[in-house]
Amino acid sequence: MEIDFNKNSDGLVPAIIQDAQTKNVLMLGYMNQEAFDKTRETKKVTFFSRSKKRLWTKGEESGNFLNLVDIKNDCDDDTLLISVNPQGPTCHTGSDTCWNEENTSNFGFLSQLESVIEQRRTSADGSKSYVASLFEKGINKIAQKVGEEAVETVIEAKDDNDELFLYESADLLFHYLILLQAKGFSLKDIETELKKRHN
Ligand code: AMP
Ligand code: ZN
Ligand code: ZN
Ligand code: ZN
Repeated sequence: MEIDFNKNSDGLVPAIIQDAQTKNVLMLGYMNQEAFDKTRETKKVTFFSRSKKRLWTKGEESGNFLNLVDIKNDCDDDTLLISVNPQGPTCHTGSDTCWNEENTSNFGFLSQLESVIEQRRTSADGSKSYVASLFEKGINKIAQKVGEEAVETVIEAKDDNDELFLYESADLLFHYLILLQAKGFSLKDIETELKKRHN
């Protein structure tokens, strides 16, 4: 189903903006058909500003754009959930979210790494980036790399060299993050699964 812009007489639907990595809610805006189309074309979230009474690309003055990742309708097609990679703080007060929350990622540096991997995946220039080149080669190649790094980690675990063990463990985790993303998942999904088993 398409989103129904005519449910309200003003032709606007609310758009909840969510950080693609941390899942934090960043802000709320309104979109009409034109803002929606422009958002999809430019991949930068564009609202219809009720105060400015015109299209407003978030970040147009500040440079703090909201880079589009995904758009979902709600159950009755009158509200949008838009996941983004924010370029800088989202609120005009300078805080990360409009609720004055710090947009800290739940897994600290590992979440940051997930963001970087996502940027490489979406820019997908395999000539420049190792990660992008892995995504270009596809899931089998990525899974194979994880297998290799796992074997190397096992070998070093049996040896008595802590340095090599940590090195291969880092290789393994890094490639595993790439595999997770190639399969459309993130660390959050693994956490959810682990929590299900925990009582
Ligand atoms: P920006 O789109 O980030 O260049 O900001 C331009 C103007 O839009 C700001 O000066 C504020 O008036 C307004 N603004 C920016 N971010 C927000 C926000 N998250 N919520 C409401 N208004 C905002
Ligand atoms: Zn609804
Ligand atoms: Zn704000
Ligand atoms: Zn290795």
